[in-house]
Amino acid sequence: MDRTRIGFDMDDVICDTYGSLRLWAETSYDIPAHEKRDMPIQSLLTDSQNQKMVEMLNEGSFFATLDALPKAIDVLETLVKKHDVFIVTAAMEHPACMSHKFKWISEHLPFFNPLNIVFCGEKYVTDVDYLIDDTPRHFERLRGQGIVFSAPKNRDEKRYKRVDNWDDVAAFF
Ligand SMILES: [Mg+2]
Repeated sequence: MDRTRIGFDMDDVICDTYGSLRLWAETSYDIPAHEKRDMPIQSLLTDSQNQKMVEMLNEGSFFATLDALPKAIDVLETLVKKHDVFIVTAAMEHPACMSHKFKWISEHLPFFNPLNIVFCGEKYVTDVDYLIDDTPRHFERLRGQGIVFSAPKNRDEKRYKRVDNWDDVAAFF
């Protein structure tokens, strides 16, 4: 039986990265980011606060502290038994994130084969049948099919199939 190759983005697909960024903005600067959850976090911050956020992301340990999105772990555990599942995560904007992302996967997804983790820059280098990602830019040169994981920032994207949550992922595969 042919196993389908499926790539999953990490930030805002497996992990609630944006939720943690909102929390960081609230605790650091008293910004009511949860009330403005549909707005890009950058638009809620001043220039110097944005600079602090970039420094925080560059330091990297933030990426070890994220929560998983609902049902992500359970669905991944089921999918790895039936398909060739890869985590395809952009690592080059904040290279220090890599060890922390690796730690996160080891702790939250102990069943996941570490050899199936792909830290990359451009994701079209991967030879997957499907890539599930909240950033549709990654699909433009991909040979496989891109599937948008819904997030406020991709609300107007109409070019690709879409899933809203991990129940939708489970139903599709
Ligand atoms: Mg993402």
